[in-house]
Amino acid sequence: MSLAVTGIGELVTNDPHLGIVHDAAIVVEGDRIAWIGPSSQAPAADSRLDADGAAVLPGFVDSHAHLIFAGDRAAEFGARMAGEAYTGGGIRTTVAATRAASDDDLRRNARRLVGEALRQGTTTIEIKSGYGLSVTEEARSLRLAAEIVEETTFLGAHVVPAEYAGRADDYVDLVRSEMLEAVTPYAKWVDVFCERGAFDADQARAILTAGAKRGLGLRLHANQLGPGPGVRLAVELGAASADHCTHLDDADVAALSGSDTVATLLPGAEFSTRSPYPDARRLLDAGVTVALATDCNPGSSYTSSMPFCIALAVREMRMTPAEAVFAATAGGAAALRRDDLGIVRVGARADLIVLDAPSHLHLAYRPGVPLIRTILHNGVPQ
Ligand SMILES: [Zn+2]
Repeated sequence: MSLAVTGIGELVTNDPHLGIVHDAAIVVEGDRIAWIGPSSQAPAADSRLDADGAAVLPGFVDSHAHLIFAGDRAAEFGARMAGEAYTGGGIRTTVAATRAASDDDLRRNARRLVGEALRQGTTTIEIKSGYGLSVTEEARSLRLAAEIVEETTFLGAHVVPAEYAGRADDYVDLVRSEMLEAVTPYAKWVDVFCERGAFDADQARAILTAGAKRGLGLRLHANQLGPGPGVRLAVELGAASADHCTHLDDADVAALSGSDTVATLLPGAEFSTRSPYPDARRLLDAGVTVALATDCNPGSSYTSSMPFCIALAVREMRMTPAEAVFAATAGGAAALRRDDLGIVRVGARADLIVLDAPSHLHLAYRPGVPLIRTILHNGVPQ
C-alpha cells in the first residue's frame, strides 16, 4: 500500500542536503518513505492525505523514559513545590509499588503512557527498567518493556535498594553478573545513575563494561544533581548518550564536543524539581550533538510531552526553535544510534507528524496547545 502526503506547506527534513522544503509531498510505501519532492509532481498512490499547507516533520524520538512502574508521586511533587528539595530518595517509593504490581498492571500503565506520547507526536520511545532492582524484578520489567518498544534499557543501577543499604559494592556485583545475565535477552542498552548518592564512577564503569561485553550499548545518567565524573566516563567508554548534563565544566563540554556521545537534555526534570536548566547554548556552540527527551517517570518528570520539552528548551535553554525540533527528532535518533529515524529521506521509516500549524516555530510559539493534527506511525495514519 502506498500513501501520498501532499500539500505540505513546510517540510522539516533534518537532511543536511534538503533542509526545510516548501510546497512538498511525500510518498510512503509500506512503513518507509519512498519519494520526496514538489507537491505538484507527486506520483500517484493508493491513497492520499492532503496536509493543506500545514507543516510536516519527523515523529519525535524520545530517547529517555522510565515507563515500567506503578503508582504516582503527586504528593511528593506537591511537597517539592512547597519548598522541599529533590534528592532522588523517592525512587524507593516507586520500587515498592512496582514490585507489588502485577504484570498486567505494569503493562497497562506503560502502554497508556506510550499511547499518550504518540498522541503528542512521539513515534519512538525508549523504555528503561530501574524500579525492580532485583534479578527477577528487573528481568520482568525488561520483558514487559520489550513487548512494547524496540529500544529497551537495563537500569538496574538506578539506586541501591533498601535491602543492600550500606553494601553498595555487593549490589554492583549482583547488577553486573546475575542481573545483567537475566535481562540481556530483553535489553538493548545498559544505563547507570552516576551521581552522588547513587553510583560512583568506578561502580558505573564496572557495570557498563560488563554490559558492553554482553553486547549492550551504553548510556549514562550523568551530572544531573551536581558536577561529577559521569559525562567524562560516558565519553571514555564510547556511550551513545550522556543524559541530563545539567552541571558541566569546560572539560566536560570539551570531552563531549570531540566525541560521538550525544548530550541528552531533559528539561522536564528541571521543571519538575524547580532546578536550574542545562546550558544547551554552550553545548551547541561547542559543536556537541544535543538530544531532547522527556525523562518521563513518576518522580522527577511526569510528562510524556516532547512539544512541552521543545518549548522549555527554547524559552529556558536558549535553543532556537529549529535546534529544539532537530534535537527532539534527529538528536534523539542519534542518541539511540538510529539512522532510519528522526529524518525525512527516502528509505527512512515513515514516522511523520502533520502539525495543526504552518511552521515548526509554532511548537514553541504556542506552548501547551495540542498542535499534532495527524500522525503517521510506520506509515500508518493513527
Ligand atoms: Zn532518567
